Amino acid sequence: MTAEAAQTMGFQTEAKRLLHLMIHSLYSNREIFLRELISNASDAIDKHRFAVISEPDLGAQTGGYRVRVEADAENKTITIDDNGIGMSRDEVIDNLGTIAKSGTAAFMEQLSGDQKADSQLIGQFGVGFYSSFIVADRVVVVTRKAGDASATRWESEGEDEFTISGAEREEAGTTVTLHLKADADEFADSWRVRSVIKKYSDHISVPVMMPEPPPPADDEAADPPSSEVEWQPVNEAKALWTRSRSEISDEEYQAFYKHVSSDFEDALTWSHNAVEGKLEYTSLLYLPQRAPFDLWHREGARGLKLYIQRTFIMDEAEQFLPMYLRFVKGVLDSSDLPLNVSRELLQQNQQVDSMRGALTKRVLDMLSKMAAKEPETYERFWDTFGVVLKEGPGEDFTNREKVAELLRFASTRDDLPVQRLSLKQYVEAMKEGQQTIYYVVAENHATAKNSPHIEALRKQGIEVLLLSDRVDEWLMSHLGEYDSKALRDCAKGEWEDAEDDTAKEALEEAEKASESLIERMQGVLSERVATIRPTVRLTSSPACLTVAEHEMGAQMRRMMEAAGQAMPESKPTMEINVGHPLLQRLDQEADEERFADLAQILLDQAVLAEGSALEDPADYVARLNKLLVEMSDS
Ligand code: ADP
Repeated sequence: MTAEAAQTMGFQTEAKRLLHLMIHSLYSNREIFLRELISNASDAIDKHRFAVISEPDLGAQTGGYRVRVEADAENKTITIDDNGIGMSRDEVIDNLGTIAKSGTAAFMEQLSGDQKADSQLIGQFGVGFYSSFIVADRVVVVTRKAGDASATRWESEGEDEFTISGAEREEAGTTVTLHLKADADEFADSWRVRSVIKKYSDHISVPVMMPEPPPPADDEAADPPSSEVEWQPVNEAKALWTRSRSEISDEEYQAFYKHVSSDFEDALTWSHNAVEGKLEYTSLLYLPQRAPFDLWHREGARGLKLYIQRTFIMDEAEQFLPMYLRFVKGVLDSSDLPLNVSRELLQQNQQVDSMRGALTKRVLDMLSKMAAKEPETYERFWDTFGVVLKEGPGEDFTNREKVAELLRFASTRDDLPVQRLSLKQYVEAMKEGQQTIYYVVAENHATAKNSPHIEALRKQGIEVLLLSDRVDEWLMSHLGEYDSKALRDCAKGEWEDAEDDTAKEALEEAEKASESLIERMQGVLSERVATIRPTVRLTSSPACLTVAEHEMGAQMRRMMEAAGQAMPESKPTMEINVGHPLLQRLDQEADEERFADLAQILLDQAVLAEGSALEDPADYVARLNKLLVEMSDS
């Protein structure tokens, strides 16, 4: 025994809340605690295996790696014992006394009060160990860190505090003993436990052993129980990805997905491939159904679990897939990389680059196949991860055509409000002679749909893509073209109007007719706009704003400003619909002050219609009210 006295410590506040929940609220699906504890044990063994590579002195564990599970019906306990990496005293306090992960806050927020759903959330947020308290009213952990001489004992009844003391343990590893609650004694029954292990842990690569099953009670010929326990493997104990596809059931793939992703829902689909040749590796890539809570944290967890020759190397190896595929989960097992590979090394390794290229194609192919064969599943994928995929053409020039095929948009076709239209479908439905794919970008769908910039196209029955995601303008600028058809932002550049032969003449006429009007307007508005010119792109609105072909659009500009970027001053072009009654009225206005008011209002309205904010809204309101009063006076 060590001389160290037992020390009692309080759980961190969040840990306390979580424990309270485990103890008092979660009754359904209680068996998951075993999955969590075996998963921890298996991770600890992976870590030991990895540690031995750099510190050979640690040596192998006697008898090989294994997890032992023992159910004791007499004492109403279940014990999970591993010979993995173990924990030092400080690590025990840190790992089992606090919740370090930011994910737990998100976990707490997502609790619905529905016990079944809530208990499923546990696994997702990696609060696994505490699930012991769903079935136990006292938990004892004895652990010894590999390389350390002494062991530590941790004990708690949940709720407020835990006790730490010194302990004895022959080998590195961890033993977790659960003293089961009276209503959870089913887990002291070895047959019950055996079936739970089969259900959740078949794919785990270390053997999970249980004592040889006792002979049936009525078998009188049975030998008297020997004191030597015979341990027998209960699970398949073969890393799932090393088996051949035809041998693996969908259920096994899904169970493994939950193990690698900490997701509680099934995966949407997966792709499992063994590659041989210059580079040898196996990949098993999954697409989740749901976005993780940290999808938008650039620093959020992403990447694959990396194994090298079956040895676990690291979680979240993010070098094997581009950022825009960060939702992909799974495993990569390489035969070529050195076992002592580090994150730094991964960043500048040619083999890694080749694998990254191949895995990226693999995911994009998986998506194309899904889009072609299971369009409804693809729609679900798109609604969840489409916005992330839209980062693709900007990030990955090589694959931008492949990504382009996967994009979906809302459009003016039947006022399609959701993103369902592919560029291919757009092109197939183009009018004869149409060479351009038109789109408009706005803050939201309604603004895009009612944008003045697309009035003429609408009238001609030409389809326009309606874009309202933040990345859309960026996406389109990187895409440039599709199927040799230029992509054209309707709010940019001059409207020469290739789709209508008569437009050119109409425009020339309008130019002639509006020379003096434009001169007068320029006199009033020159501080706010670069130029004023007539246009044929409007049919029902009196005016709109445009920017030059290669300038930043209004939507992008707003986004950059919102992100705190100082933007260079840039004046838009004001385009006017000369045939509109308001402009004709303006042309005839002899009173200079009223002319100025009307011109300013016209410009302000064009600003509002594109979804931008007025610089001086009070001024706009005052002018408009002045006109309204004059109108009612006359
Ligand atoms: P998670 O496993 O998701 O990190 P847990 O609450 O289950 O969350 O465990 C917290 C931490 O405690 C683990 O990350 C690990 O460092 C440590 N731990 C848990 N079980 C074991 C074990 N059997 N052996 C070694 N370390 C363990």
